Amino acid sequence: MRDRVERLTATLEERELDALIVGDLVRPGDSGRTDMVNLRWLTGFTGTSGLVVVKPEEALFVTDFRYADRVRTELDGLEVVTAERQIVPAVASRLEGRVGFDDAHTSVQVHGKLAGAVPSSVELVPAAGVVEDLRRRKDARELERIREAARVADDVYEEVVGRGLAGRREDEVAAAAAAAIRARGAEPSFPAIVAAGPNGALPHAEPSEREIGAGELVVFDLGAELNGYCSDCTRTFAAGEPGDEAREVYEVVLGAQDAALAATVAGAGARAVDAAARDPITEAGHGEEFGHGVGHGVGVEIHEAPRLGKTSDDELVAGDVVTIEPGIYVSGRFGVRIEDLVAVTPDGCENLSSLPKDLRDVG
Ligand code: ZN
Ligand code: ZN
Repeated sequence: MRDRVERLTATLEERELDALIVGDLVRPGDSGRTDMVNLRWLTGFTGTSGLVVVKPEEALFVTDFRYADRVRTELDGLEVVTAERQIVPAVASRLEGRVGFDDAHTSVQVHGKLAGAVPSSVELVPAAGVVEDLRRRKDARELERIREAARVADDVYEEVVGRGLAGRREDEVAAAAAAAIRARGAEPSFPAIVAAGPNGALPHAEPSEREIGAGELVVFDLGAELNGYCSDCTRTFAAGEPGDEAREVYEVVLGAQDAALAATVAGAGARAVDAAARDPITEAGHGEEFGHGVGHGVGVEIHEAPRLGKTSDDELVAGDVVTIEPGIYVSGRFGVRIEDLVAVTPDGCENLSSLPKDLRDVG
């Protein structure tokens, strides 16, 4: 973990910061919140209450008495400060100069408390996204974990659709997917989406009690979390012959996804990757039916930086792991989405989803 703190330290100078606060200023924190996820990624700390103040020469870990001993043994090399009652006063006296804080996860109330407690020479500077930026460049070990999580998703698809889909309930299929993920020692990285026929036209449909009809398209989106890293994959299956129109729309989405994958390379603008998928969909007359961005980053969180959409200013970097997931949602009738998880490289991308993409009639 030391190397991550050092990577963060190196960015302080660029941002003209004397210190950066990472973690949660209030307690008890919620370990699922991005600020606590950042703290865990940076230091390995798995508790719910704590923060680290990173300075060029030192890193100071502040936590309450419940975690102090654990932190001392787990977080080798960090100075540990135990907060008697509240974290804010314990931190405030140790700050000086320009101090970055996570304005995306700090309430106005907590900011007010901090501002009231710090010495008057301290300037609090909004610095959300600093750790999220570092998290984008996955190292070899992180990539391997994401590959493994993607492999779990691939295997689960094979197992679950191997039994066919027609006549099964959406929620039963989703539950089978969750069970198959757990049987492989992983956890679902989000609740699976199983959306058949008209439900498939709702990009965020929740699995219902509805029975999947013969010949319907089924949008099936699932992911696994293994060793702290997530995967995300969508396939659209046919539960019997879906007919010409559904097949045509499927081919448009597949072509769009191919184009976006071909555009995915370090240095590419996220907006350009989105456009690579969006343009052919628009040309085919379905522009209005592709209502979301083409992808998002994946790592310790299922949705993280960068964001790939038509208003994104992000630029891809080597080490980014992103989804490429165009879709067409024909209201009231059916939907198609095809999503792969890829690792961005200097010359293109490595596709971590190995499941075939030709429209598969699983019956
Ligand atoms: Zn997905
Ligand atoms: Zn996704």
